Amino acid sequence: MHSEPRAYNLPVTSSPYLVNIATIVGKAGTMRTLELDFDAPERIGEGLGYIEKGTPIELDVRLEVLHDGILATASLESRMSGECSRCLTPLDEPLRVDFAELFAYARDEALEYEVHDDTVDLEPPVRDAVVLALPFQPVCRPDCLGLDPETGEKLVEPLEEQAPAVDPRWAALAGFGASTEAAEEPATGSEEVAGPRETDVREGTRNHDYKGESGQR
Ligand SMILES: [Zn+2]
Repeated sequence: MHSEPRAYNLPVTSSPYLVNIATIVGKAGTMRTLELDFDAPERIGEGLGYIEKGTPIELDVRLEVLHDGILATASLESRMSGECSRCLTPLDEPLRVDFAELFAYARDEALEYEVHDDTVDLEPPVRDAVVLALPFQPVCRPDCLGLDPETGEKLVEPLEEQAPAVDPRWAALAGFGASTEAAEEPATGSEEVAGPRETDVREGTRNHDYKGESGQR
């Protein structure tokens, strides 16, 4: 009747990432699917974006028994926390990561993961896959402009100083290029810019590019 009290005395060593495969191990061709729902026991990721400790994780796993091991194909859904690398706004975004890894029965240097005591531990491949999937420099939005260096406020428009800070140098260079051309070949028109010397062509192209860019600002 009351058979459960003793069970609580069993050592609680189980990680939510551990999957017991005793019933399928060695049965090549067998397949098993399971859904693991748990809260991340530890934070995953050391950078600006990460899965925070305690964040719900949903792990859909398909285990296929092969002759030399267990192939685990998994899809993880959780949320990425962190902050925008430009404006430091807190981030909370859905995160989905897929991976497939073979857990070998026997030690194999070509394979990273092994079956231990009829279990597979999905934590290392989950960590590896999540860390790879997390953005190195997460942003709140692709066109985030960052912070105003003077006020520390989040910018809603590009800084106006940026355009003048770049323009004078290129304006000077453009003038230099023009005067050189004029001095060397005073008689040629603009269609002769693509002349015999490659350096002139490149200089001319570059000047045009920067004129176009500054014109937009
Ligand atoms: Zn931002």
